Amino acid sequence: MKIQMVDLSASYPEIRAEVDAAIKNVLDKTNFILGEEVKKFEDDFAKYCGVKYAVGVANGTDAIKIALLAAGVKSGDEVITTPFTFIATSEAIVQAGGVPVFADIEIDTYNINLREVEKKITKRTKAILPVHMYGHPAEMEKILEIAKKYNLKVIEDCAQSFSAKYKLPTSDFRLTGSFGDAGCFSFFPAKNLGCFGDGGMVVTNDEKIYENAKALRNHGQREKYFSVMDGFNSRLDTIQAAVLSVKLKHIAKWTAMRNSVAEKYNKLLKNVATVPKVLENCKHSFNYYTIRFSDKPTRDKVQKHLADSGVPNQIYYPCSLHLQKVYENLNYKKGNFPVSEKMQDETLSLPMYPELDDEKIEYIVKKIKEVI
Ligand SMILES: *Cc1c(COP(=O)(O)O)cnc(C)c1O
Repeated sequence: MKIQMVDLSASYPEIRAEVDAAIKNVLDKTNFILGEEVKKFEDDFAKYCGVKYAVGVANGTDAIKIALLAAGVKSGDEVITTPFTFIATSEAIVQAGGVPVFADIEIDTYNINLREVEKKITKRTKAILPVHMYGHPAEMEKILEIAKKYNLKVIEDCAQSFSAKYKLPTSDFRLTGSFGDAGCFSFFPAKNLGCFGDGGMVVTNDEKIYENAKALRNHGQREKYFSVMDGFNSRLDTIQAAVLSVKLKHIAKWTAMRNSVAEKYNKLLKNVATVPKVLENCKHSFNYYTIRFSDKPTRDKVQKHLADSGVPNQIYYPCSLHLQKVYENLNYKKGNFPVSEKMQDETLSLPMYPELDDEKIEYIVKKIKEVI
């Protein structure tokens, strides 16, 4: 049986005619840079997220970097984030001139632990950067409380959580990215909303952050050839925006399908491994489906057997950020973040995409059970 980690071709037939027409339209107009399709997609995206503004950028890493700068992060400012994420999260902090400060995670959701965050706050702390890991929302209620108490900015890394929802006690379910000062999205092909290359988005309700982000992505210009700040060349391509506008219309359905896949996995795996927990005030977007085993040798044995059986799998991520060679200068040590280190050793992510069918899921589970 041929199984892929993410089958990008599975959703294409349904949208092919519309996507092809949208691309041809841009080719005919040749408005490749900041064409009207970019503005249209930004408007659609902001509306979908329930925020006032959206700014299309070149990728998700730039979205975080630009959001931090737009929110006022300056050289030497400390930004507290999780060590259990993709390197892009902390990379963006460094590129914005900030210093990443890590705080350990919760064992059940893989998201940043707010008791640990509070211990890390200093006079130089400027922002908290939660990651909605795998698509499970971080605890925004507590994050917003702490941010208010210490006057910090909150920049959400929503690269894995597009369409995930969170409920504050005082309101209805809302999309991740709409809680902090800004939300940052990636349209890398394997994300929940992926384009045909690289792309990203910053969303915000803050007019100043919006105006800054718009200038930062385009050489610091508010007006053509008049720069008011050091900026970047980081725009969302018109062709990608045109593709994304088509795909956005399907995202609610695809998110529901991902949740069905997860439910099926959960049912079959509940006595075999620790399956993802979804807190009551959260709706998961399941960019990744990640399970956990009792120890590293078991995880490694399962991983090897899956690989030998032709079942793709991944560890997201095998090296916590504080242990990355690139951050040797930050002077962290093994043992600093025991939960993150345990998770890097015990988790395994399985194939996940909306169209993954029962037959494949059952085969994957069967292969896991051959080891456990
Ligand atoms: C994918 C990802 C990013 C970066 O997005 P790119 O578009 O690849 O730059 C940032 N943070 C997390 C958690 C991601 O998964």
